[in-house]
Amino acid sequence: MKITRRGFVKGAGAATAIGMMGTPYIALGASKKVVVVGGGTGGATAAKYLRMADPTIEVTLIEANKHYYTCYMSNEVLGGGRSIDSIKFGYSGLGSHGVKVVHDVVTEIDAKGKMVKTAGGESFPYDRCIVAPGIDFKWDSIDGYDAKVAEDIPHAWKAGSQTVTLRKQLEAMKDGGTVVIAPPGNPFRCPPGPYERASQIAHYLKQHKPKSKILILDPKPKFSKMGLFTQGWKALYGYETDNSMIEWRGSAQGSNDNAVVKVDAGSRSVTTGFDDTVKADVLNVIPNQNAGKIAFAAGLTNDSGWCPINLHTFESTMHKNIHVIGDASIAKGMPKSGYAANSEAKVCAASVAALLNGQEPGTPAYVNTCYSIVGKDWGISVAAVYQLAQDGSKITKISGGLTPTDATAEMRAREVKYAHSWFTNITNDIFM
Ligand SMILES: Cc1cc2nc3c(=O)[nH]c(=O)nc-3n(C[C@H](O)[C@H](O)[C@H](O)COP(=O)(O)OP(=O)(O)OC[C@H]3O[C@@H](n4cnc5c(N)ncnc54)[C@H](O)[C@@H]3O)c2cc1C
Repeated sequence: MKITRRGFVKGAGAATAIGMMGTPYIALGASKKVVVVGGGTGGATAAKYLRMADPTIEVTLIEANKHYYTCYMSNEVLGGGRSIDSIKFGYSGLGSHGVKVVHDVVTEIDAKGKMVKTAGGESFPYDRCIVAPGIDFKWDSIDGYDAKVAEDIPHAWKAGSQTVTLRKQLEAMKDGGTVVIAPPGNPFRCPPGPYERASQIAHYLKQHKPKSKILILDPKPKFSKMGLFTQGWKALYGYETDNSMIEWRGSAQGSNDNAVVKVDAGSRSVTTGFDDTVKADVLNVIPNQNAGKIAFAAGLTNDSGWCPINLHTFESTMHKNIHVIGDASIAKGMPKSGYAANSEAKVCAASVAALLNGQEPGTPAYVNTCYSIVGKDWGISVAAVYQLAQDGSKITKISGGLTPTDATAEMRAREVKYAHSWFTNITNDIFM
């Protein structure tokens, strides 16, 4: 089957039409092998779009889990607005595009021998490999907090069982309880995420436990969409009044004054850089982050703990024929978001298809929109379209916008609808 330009663009869907090269590659050559490591937002998109760009390429996607829970909209699960099942996706849709899906854990990527190896003992040869493992946590960044403690004091920064645990803890909390949220330092997955989380928890508490409080102990002096979040918090949750449901304590630049530096799991209390001790009823600690473990094992990271890449093709600058996309990559200029990972995956898929067929990759464009649902009928967003800087050193924003501060109630309610329709579109684009 050969794919036409019209068919390819139609398949991309209106909401995700940007984030790929201008012209899809039309397949002519012999079969080539691509192995995709990680079937989350970036990896699953890349696998599907590679098959759409050139159906003669054999694409194998290796993913550890049978189901993927999107982090996007997981804050709504915490707020009680949706079920965990509504953010759960399987891989049968990718099979219908001819992607071979293997559920296993990748333990080694041999860049010289061009071979991916798994815990299950299988080996997968490749011509090019696309690595999209997402994030892992710097467990040594907070004293007393590790993967084991996180089962009871969840970060819930990878959606799934920890999202459910955190929701149950919120349900069990008494009215008048304190929820402490400890966001990570930069750079991290989903910059507005912790503040949307605080908003969604406040939305739940306002209805069911109105005497409760949320305290955000932040290692940063400011945060993404801060003006829009605080505007919403003032209108909905009494922010900055004596009765505020949300209190945000930031840290001065370069200090860790209000950062959580220690967790005492037994008493469910935290200690800040100021040496303040705060007791929580529900505690959500989100540690500092770096690229997923396999990126380190494969020698794809630099001293920053993230993966340097050529921003045109997403090919690693550490190892040839391996591309890194999504949160794990240093996509200078773009945030670590699901929509960015989806857009990077399309640019990467088009590049890999071209390179495997001896063609020059086309000129990329990238896109990102991040919606946050602050409360009932109150949505906000930031959107941007990007292009590669002429010297290739960064991805530059060429257009974009933010919800205006003087948006009408109708516009804010519409942003919530847009957020939900974006979720439907992107999950269809990735998994169907
Ligand atoms: C609370 C929250 C809210 C968010 N909201 C939004 C939002 O509204 N909009 C938005 O655009 N983004 C949002 N994000 C960010 C978004 O979820 C991430 O940026 C996105 O998932 C990154 O995609 P990825 O492919 O890099 O990683 P992931 O989606 O995490 O995928 C990585 C995959 O790799 C697999 N994997 C890892 N290592 C291996 C291995 N060795 N072998 C096999 N498989 C492996 C994992 O199982 C996983 O499925 C949110 C994040 C959070 C935490």
